[in-house]
Amino acid sequence: MPIYEYRCDECQVEFEKLVFGSDVVSCPKCGGEVHRMMSCCTFKSAAGDFKTSGTGKSGCSGCSATSCATCH
Ligand SMILES: [Zn+2]
Repeated sequence: MPIYEYRCDECQVEFEKLVFGSDVVSCPKCGGEVHRMMSCCTFKSAAGDFKTSGTGKSGCSGCSATSCATCH
């Protein structure tokens, strides 16, 4: 499951969130804008194998990293 780490631009709070597709994530504390941090496990390790033989990007063009028949 795609659990991402985020950090808030406003109050610097860090949190993890389960994200599906193009869900918009905002800070749970202040509602400000957040940036995804790619430091975590799931996405990186899963994408590693695909990157070498794939298009060079993680996932395929129609993929939102959750359930894609082409790359998962
Ligand atoms: Zn915040």
